[in-house]
Amino acid sequence: MPKSMKSPKAETRQSQLLKELPSVDEVLRESAVAALIEREGRPAVTQAVRVALQNLRDGIAAGSMDAAQMKLAISTLPEIVQRHIARVVRSSLRTVINASGVILHTNLGRAPLSRAALDHARQIAECYSNLEFDLDSGERGKRDVHVQRLFARILGDEVSTVVVNNNAAAVLLTLNTLAEGGEVIVSRGELVEIGGSFRIPDVMSKSGATLREVGTTNRTRLADYERAIGERTRLLLRVHRSNFQIVGFTEQPSLEELVSLAHRRGLPIMEDLGSGALFDLRTVGISGEPGVSDSLAAGVDVVTYSGDKLLGGPQSGIISGRPEFIARIRSNPMFRALRVDKLIYAALEATLLAYVRQDYQQIPALAMMHASVEEIGRRAEAVARSLPQPPFAAEVIEGESLIGGGAAPAAALPTRLVAFTCRGLSADEVARRLRHADPPVVARVEEGRVLLDLRTVFPSQDDALLGVLSGVAT
Ligand SMILES: *Cc1c(COP(=O)(O)O)cnc(C)c1O
Repeated sequence: MPKSMKSPKAETRQSQLLKELPSVDEVLRESAVAALIEREGRPAVTQAVRVALQNLRDGIAAGSMDAAQMKLAISTLPEIVQRHIARVVRSSLRTVINASGVILHTNLGRAPLSRAALDHARQIAECYSNLEFDLDSGERGKRDVHVQRLFARILGDEVSTVVVNNNAAAVLLTLNTLAEGGEVIVSRGELVEIGGSFRIPDVMSKSGATLREVGTTNRTRLADYERAIGERTRLLLRVHRSNFQIVGFTEQPSLEELVSLAHRRGLPIMEDLGSGALFDLRTVGISGEPGVSDSLAAGVDVVTYSGDKLLGGPQSGIISGRPEFIARIRSNPMFRALRVDKLIYAALEATLLAYVRQDYQQIPALAMMHASVEEIGRRAEAVARSLPQPPFAAEVIEGESLIGGGAAPAAALPTRLVAFTCRGLSADEVARRLRHADPPVVARVEEGRVLLDLRTVFPSQDDALLGVLSGVAT
């Protein structure tokens, strides 16, 4: 209602109510609020009190508040202020319980870091370090040396490695270094789009190289590559089909054939592996997925892969290959713009040390892949049994976990799932309540039931998960 239309009587009532509102200082002096100041600091609390009082004033002006309501609101001001602070001062990034069974879930932060990676990152970041300082000579050093040494232990001394912000950056930098102004030959069956915005043709054009597509979506022959090679060709590129498969009438030259063609014609060959495992995937029952070592052993000159996919470390893009190419990539001015921070180097170094020691259980993503069906089944039974029936109806069923992160798109790991319904609530409503819980839980919904895969839930989270589940029914 516009002000001018209010009756004079309503106006007096409102100005009376406004007069009864406490001042900011009066609220700040209340003992409950003083305790908040102690915890959250005076600026945050003062700000929240201002907002709360303004909301009350707005309510009064809109005529939506009578004397009794205002009295109640004033008596609960400390709680209102507390809730406001919780909303504003709480960080937006929160931990969630991933019960989806997708181990490298890009939307949930991909690989969880190992304790060793976190400890090392913390130690290095908390003080000064020799990040770019050569302790022998007392002179300026290079930040790459710290992980180069470990990659060489894992991939062999003849392999050089540099690290950038993510694999998209690794691909961009490599293409720019090796092929700017020239052509890069790629099969039409490998022009992938990954997770929203990484598209091979777009990255190619930003790198300054020209994409030369060969073959068809389902079939590309060695002769197609051969015919496309010309004066402007700088590089052959193979891209891992991270999130799709081509089945049926298909053909693709082997990596060895491509390598031999490239080298016969005096050209380098690059492979964008995407996930890039540093361990043997067959140990988790997945075959036919080349690891970084396989690609290098086949003769590929430069391999790019992510640090936070199958490697199980922090977000980063790794470029491994023949020293002469890596040296050129390293000296590209773009490298400086894409380089990574000391926190990442520290976390990556600790993750790589686990590989050097072959202590794969230390790396959470790998430990999850290795977790046995029996072990997951036991935990699933415990969760299913703890759910009060009714309102819940729960059972443990067979299912599959996914590796995710563009690794082995067709591969699934056998698992056991808690499948449940909750009386009076649809499965979608249960999933919604789980997401809004504290901590939020991300689950799957299939055929009217909520599915929980404990493979991706840390055993230390089982109790918190049970707490959230029992809260859902209320
Ligand atoms: C995941 C992936 C990328 C992008 O890697 P980010 O680390 O997310 O930048 C590029 N290429 C392939 C083949 C991938 O699977």
